[in-house]
Order: sequence, then structure tokens, then C-alpha cells
Amino acid sequence: MKKILLITTVCTFLIACASCGKDEPLPKPPVDNPAVTQSTEEAETASAETQTENVPGETSAPSEAAQPDETTEEAQDAPDATQAAASDGQTAQTAAAPVATKAPASQTPSKSQEATRAQETTRAPEATKAPAQNDFYAPPPPVYDIPGLTYITDPNTGVKILLASKSYSMPADFAPGLEDVTLEYFNKMQSDAAAQGLYLQLSSGYRSYYDQQIVYGGYVYDVGSDVADTFSARPGYSEHQTGLVIDLNSIDDSFGYTPEAAWVAEHAHEYGFIIRYPDGMEGITGYKYEPWHIRYVGSEVATEIYNRQTCLETYLGLPNSEYSGAYTG
Ligand SMILES: [Zn+2]
Repeated sequence: MKKILLITTVCTFLIACASCGKDEPLPKPPVDNPAVTQSTEEAETASAETQTENVPGETSAPSEAAQPDETTEEAQDAPDATQAAASDGQTAQTAAAPVATKAPASQTPSKSQEATRAQETTRAPEATKAPAQNDFYAPPPPVYDIPGLTYITDPNTGVKILLASKSYSMPADFAPGLEDVTLEYFNKMQSDAAAQGLYLQLSSGYRSYYDQQIVYGGYVYDVGSDVADTFSARPGYSEHQTGLVIDLNSIDDSFGYTPEAAWVAEHAHEYGFIIRYPDGMEGITGYKYEPWHIRYVGSEVATEIYNRQTCLETYLGLPNSEYSGAYTG
């Protein structure tokens, strides 16, 4: 693990998987999704409709467009704890136990105390397609009872999913490291891919709030926050901070043209992973297509999303991933 963490840290500075590092300040999202555990009191906005679409493959780079959407996920971050802290407020205050007590990976969503907050929504995600069968079962990821984290209960599977996007941040002290379950199922996937002559490498995994802060801060210094937001995540908003994300192989657009990418697209769900930022959904996910960025959600949820060929926001009925305000870090 430590090696991985070190590697990850190093990679942080070399890579910029946008979504990975995005984060926004606290402005909480307009979520209204009942299932969302966090308490956004305010937010009740109405709709969580996501549907915006976007241009398919946008480029990642720091183009400046002010739109956060197409950014790549990098790990940036910057701001500081301030926002994180602040964000907490907005976010789930539900949770109670501070600090990273992580729940056992195997733990089922139900056991988490948060069940309370996590109200089950009735809403049934769009499609109706029956989930495909997996060759084996990859359990749901751990659930933490920590203030500042936002979970939503998937009505189809009962699994609690930690939200991390431009709309949902995490506190600075949430530092789970790369989750054991993430690594375990990546290893299984890697082995099965190897049996077919395919090579999958873990190029970037866990990234702490502070790692992201350094990266994002550097971009802000160089090009300003408006531009930085288009390709880098603010600290506290990078999905890599969840410990549930892995960037594969080259971490650039070229990966999408490899046989490995094609195999991952068809089989990652069997191991509990989803391609977090699908092609053509930039306006919804907030990041350009990143075939290398996979997020662990467990095989039940991953299969549902795979069957619908959609993204996490749309599947859960969440609003589009976007920062609620300018960077103030
Ligand atoms: Zn990534």
C-alpha cells in the first residue's frame, strides 16, 4: 500500500487526471435528491436533471473555456482546508464520527449507521434493463460516518455511494488512502486481462486533499482559477480522494484506442468499476471523456450503470457536476 501511495503521490504531480482532482468549494450542489444523505438543507433545488450533454470528446487540456465541464480530472486542488471545512458544513453533516474511521470494506451499506440519512428514494432510475450477471461478486465499497461526506443510496441496489464531483466535496481530513477493496478488485481485473494478453497498470490511485491542493494551486498560480477549473479539480473535489479510483495505463486520450481500453469498457463492471466519465457526457459529469479513470462502486451498481451505458450522475438522478461558485481558496 505504501508503495502505491507513494507512486500515487508522485503521479499526482505528473498527471493531471482532471476529474480526479476536481473539487469545488463548498457551495453545495443543488441537489435535491432525496436520497442524498448530506444535508443540504438549503438546497432544494429542483431538479436534478442531468441531462445536458456535451460534446463528446473534448479535449482535456487547459483550454480555458470557462466551463468546468469539460475538464479532465486532474488532481488539483488548491484551496485549502477552508473550503473543505466549509464544505462540510454544507455537506453531510449527518455523519458523525469525524475522522477516518473507515468501515470495513466488506461492509454493506445497510450496516452503516447512516442509513438514516440516506433515505431511500423511490425514484427508479431510468432504464429498465435488467442487470447483467457477473461472474463473481464485487462488494459495495466502505461507508464512512464522517461529517462532510455525502452519500446517496442507490434505490436499485441499496448500496450507498460516496459522491465526489464538482458538486460534492470532501473534507480535508478525509484521507482513506487507496481502499483495499479497490486494489483487490483491480488486481483481479488485471489478472484476468493479463490472461487475455492485455496489460493493465495502476498509474494513479489515491490522492489526498493536500496533494490536490498543491497541484491545483500550481495551476491557479500559472493560469488563474478560472482556467484551472477547466482541467483540474479543486482540492476536496477530486474523486481520487475517495480511495475508490484508479487511473489506468497512459492516462491520456491514446489509451482509448488500445485493446485494453476496449476490454475495460466491457468488463470493468464485473469487477465493480465504472468508467466514471463516459464519452459524450462531459456536461453531466463535469469532465471530458476519460476511458482510463475507473471508479469502484461494487459489481451490483457497476452492472446497473453498464447496462444503461450511462454515467453516475444520470443513473442516480443527480444534478450536473459543476462548481457552485468561483474558487476562493
Ligand atoms: Zn483519474
